[in-house]
Amino acid sequence: MFTHIDEKYGYDGELGAIYAKDKTEFKVWAPEAEAARVQLYKTCRDEDPYRRLPMEKGADGVWRKTAFGDLDGIYYTYVVTYDGIEQEAVDIYARSAGVNGAMGMIIDTKACDPAGWDKQDYVKLEKYTDACIYELHVRDFSIDKSGNFCYKGRFLAFIEKGLVNAAGDSIGIDHIKELGVTHVHLMPCFDYCTVDESDVHRPQFNWGYDPQNYNVPEGSYSTDPFNGRTRVAEFKRLVYALHREGIGVVMDVVYNHTAATADSSFNKIYPKYYYRLWGDKGEYFSNGSGCGNELATERKMVRKFIVDSLCYWASEYKMDGFRFDLMGLYDTETLNLISGRLKEINPNVLLYGEGWTGGDSPLEWGRRAMKLNARSTPDIAFFSDDFRDTVKGNNFENRDKGYVNGATGNEEYVKEIMCGRIPHPQIPNLTKFSWTDTPAQTVNYVEAHDNLTLWDKLYYTNSTDSIEKRIRMDKMAAAMVFLAQGIPFIQAGQEFLRSKPFPGGTVFDHNSYKSPDAINSLKWNRKSEFKGVFEYYKGLIGFRKAHSAFRMCDKDSIGEMMRYIDKLPQRVVGFVLYGDNEFEEIVVFFNPNDYPVTLHAFGSYGVYIDGDNAGNVPLRTVEGDYELDGLSTIVLGRPRQVPEEVYEAPATD
Ligand code: CA
Repeated sequence: MFTHIDEKYGYDGELGAIYAKDKTEFKVWAPEAEAARVQLYKTCRDEDPYRRLPMEKGADGVWRKTAFGDLDGIYYTYVVTYDGIEQEAVDIYARSAGVNGAMGMIIDTKACDPAGWDKQDYVKLEKYTDACIYELHVRDFSIDKSGNFCYKGRFLAFIEKGLVNAAGDSIGIDHIKELGVTHVHLMPCFDYCTVDESDVHRPQFNWGYDPQNYNVPEGSYSTDPFNGRTRVAEFKRLVYALHREGIGVVMDVVYNHTAATADSSFNKIYPKYYYRLWGDKGEYFSNGSGCGNELATERKMVRKFIVDSLCYWASEYKMDGFRFDLMGLYDTETLNLISGRLKEINPNVLLYGEGWTGGDSPLEWGRRAMKLNARSTPDIAFFSDDFRDTVKGNNFENRDKGYVNGATGNEEYVKEIMCGRIPHPQIPNLTKFSWTDTPAQTVNYVEAHDNLTLWDKLYYTNSTDSIEKRIRMDKMAAAMVFLAQGIPFIQAGQEFLRSKPFPGGTVFDHNSYKSPDAINSLKWNRKSEFKGVFEYYKGLIGFRKAHSAFRMCDKDSIGEMMRYIDKLPQRVVGFVLYGDNEFEEIVVFFNPNDYPVTLHAFGSYGVYIDGDNAGNVPLRTVEGDYELDGLSTIVLGRPRQVPEEVYEAPATD
């Protein structure tokens, strides 16, 4: 219904409060508004503006006003009129905001750069499959008493080095570094709605999937939500702290819906334009997000807003990647535009998302950025729910089992997920269901913030088994994540059996989006309590990073270089990898049975990973018949033989 508007008024220039030392230019696109003005406030607590500046509309539908003088740190809103009714709105392009995001802020963002900011850069990422992703919530990271952070629950907790838990093991950013992941994926850090920023000393929690101001960092994670500069400066310090450790930062973005609908700033600035609608006259907001509305990504100025916003985060904050929530609500054309523009800013940018929606949408199936359309957005990876459910059982049925915890007869599906959901010549029957031709589009995971943690799921599926047995299952699931073709992804704390029990400890929270810290926070003492599990995850990550054979990218190489082994004991799956950078051959077996099986090695191999340990130093060697324990993974490797004549002794005097 807005096609004629897009054709007549579609605008390509910069929008927002464009700051310079001597003047600020305000530009807001609202082609059908009757009037618009800017209101300026000295603090975000002021009830009345100290200036009201009428704006003028251009033929391009943009209302403009230039205010002279240095307005850095001044708060502002727009008042826009439709049908004679004035409504005050926050600029959707605002770069910072006052408390609770109720006013935008004019800001010299460069003045918020930490010292040395210009000397650092994005992390290198040659290909998506080189990434190991760690999903983390800012507050969870530092709020628990087991971590002695100064900046509990704040962005600045990421700059705190040298911290340890009660047992003396490293925590915080040192822990992330020790684990060896390449990218930290931060759950929403843009300004979201639910947490009251004016009262941050009262414990409050939300995941943050309720967007308010897309281009503004969340105030409750800053040390002063009343000063819009603080959140900008402190979020940059977080990014810088991770970059200094060589760790990339991925931002979880939620352009699929806004927290408010009819009274959102988008809707006050241009009623209905930003949202998908239904009904004969478009009188209703459609709700493909399950949160009350969905953004109409296919409309010209909505698409422009999303692209501009992402480019802003990528260039201003040096974000290394983005994770798209409910990406099935984005049209594929928008996503391709996004990846194209972001790659111009940073060719190493990492992009992935949820290839599904949260409800029905008017967006045509063929245009949705869903898993089944993955081939039409080649630079975007998708969460493989197939992987998740095959390994541990259906995500929504607490007691449903998967490969590691007791399901039988799914070995062929295991082969399908281990090659990254691409066509493979040895599984012709499943090839027709493959949804991509490259594992660079497949995010492999068994745990994320949504639903039960893996450890809690194993409690429900295997409550009569011992903790030791469930730990073996957990380790095998992790081995599958890190030894599969694709992009490995874990939730923070998974490496020490993260758990979200309700009081009592036998019922677990599967949707902790607003649950208290006691349920959500990272309990740093678990790292020491389950040190063996942590060491195992760390060893898996190290092994994966050392071997290119786990990080292949195209289906033809994988068809040739990854060969599944036939005639194995029941339920055992195994494969050989060739073409590795270091090893002539890598052999991987998973035994989900709770009894040992006998396997045969044709020659002598080092064992690098077994059910207990994982790393880059061989644990022992095997040759001929050998035993693989129950509920175990084994990885054998044979280093490439280096001919002796290649060795040149260093010159001596
Ligand atoms: Ca907020």
